[in-house]
Amino acid sequence: MAKQQVLHCSFCGRRRDEVQILIAGQDGHICENCVEHAQDILKQEFPALSENKNSQTSNTKLVVRKPVEIKKFLDDYVIGQEDAKKVLAVAVYNHYKRLNQKAGNPSDVEIDKSNIIMVGETGTGKTLLAKSIARMLNVPFAIVDATVFTEAGYVGEDVESMLTRLLQTCNYDVAAAERGIVFIDEIDKIARRSDNPSITRDVSGEGVQQGLLKLLEGSEVLVPPQGGRKHPEQKLIKINTQNILFICGGAFDGIDKIISRRINTNAIGFNVNKDVHDNKLSNLIQFVNAVDMKAFGLIPELLGRLPVITYLNPLDATTLRSILTEPKNSLIKQFTRLFELEGISLLFEEEALDFMVEKALEFKLGARGLRSICESILTDAMFELPSQKVKSFVVTKEYASCKFNNSKLNMLKVAS
Ligand code: ADP
Repeated sequence: MAKQQVLHCSFCGRRRDEVQILIAGQDGHICENCVEHAQDILKQEFPALSENKNSQTSNTKLVVRKPVEIKKFLDDYVIGQEDAKKVLAVAVYNHYKRLNQKAGNPSDVEIDKSNIIMVGETGTGKTLLAKSIARMLNVPFAIVDATVFTEAGYVGEDVESMLTRLLQTCNYDVAAAERGIVFIDEIDKIARRSDNPSITRDVSGEGVQQGLLKLLEGSEVLVPPQGGRKHPEQKLIKINTQNILFICGGAFDGIDKIISRRINTNAIGFNVNKDVHDNKLSNLIQFVNAVDMKAFGLIPELLGRLPVITYLNPLDATTLRSILTEPKNSLIKQFTRLFELEGISLLFEEEALDFMVEKALEFKLGARGLRSICESILTDAMFELPSQKVKSFVVTKEYASCKFNNSKLNMLKVAS
């Protein structure tokens, strides 16, 4: 009769009955003592690793930089948008100052949350700003799209499921999620459809705005661990949103007309700058305020919970040109690195860079389009050069325009 095999820890040799648990691997097992021991070794060898993990929990006091330093950090990643960076830096600083204060002395003056709303055309850097802030603070960060949500009870996702994404980014560490940042994109798409005389409920517009209220102001909400729609049998996770910073972004197409109307109406009898009065300023979005957003279709209660409003400028040629080369992980730096890994030094002539900017503007592709333009110019080189013995490669304007003109991107434009 075959002797029954006794399981033992492959590291220390203890038998199954000598330990509490044996975790099975492909060819062996490990006991709880050895797991602990391995953890200690890791801590000793890589102290940064354990520090990093701890910084995400609520036990550690957040080290928050001063607004000037926050802005300086953002400068490394985001070109231009000076006003937005300043407003964000102050709002984030105040938010986390409030957090640290709360932990310290409960009898202090209670400072309100400073949730933020950013208005600006698509591709001007709203998400990038929010992402960069989260990167700097080392807190969980989730991006959600407001258009997927619907009022409870209708087809779509519950607003609470945005917190599921946050939980997922920090491995369901509730304490860490409760200090995180949620970026709600396309907030303008849930504007109330006031001009729609339909008798049906506005379940993906005003209904969602109502749903967001309790999340934004800070309360305990029950979150479905897997997202989607809540259902009765599901075990829900309780999250307090009091210390979660919500940053909303939206293009608010057409809001410039609302601003222009407001400025012109208000101007009567007041000494308003003539340029503003005549709407000669090209970028009216810089004057955006809560009144305009209410006229656009956001309900006053929601606006009340988003007290910080800022705007992003449309990207002009100079900004696009800087975006190509200046940020820490700019496109050109990324492609240069890709080639470098292949042992090839990649160089761009100034005129080639100007050409890319020109095309991004001509095709109205914005900063996002710069990547597809770069790809369309460099794909052939990335395909062929690894098999050739080339040490350097220069992208001239002629090369760039030849490759771009033959690309699908250009064909689309020609066809349209
Ligand atoms: P939005 O959220 O406003 O639609 P994103 O932040 O997603 O736009 O921007 C899209 C991409 O364009 C970013 O990943 C970034 O590469 C680039 N980009 C846009 N604006 C800027 C900027 N001001 N500085 C640097 N890069 C930018």
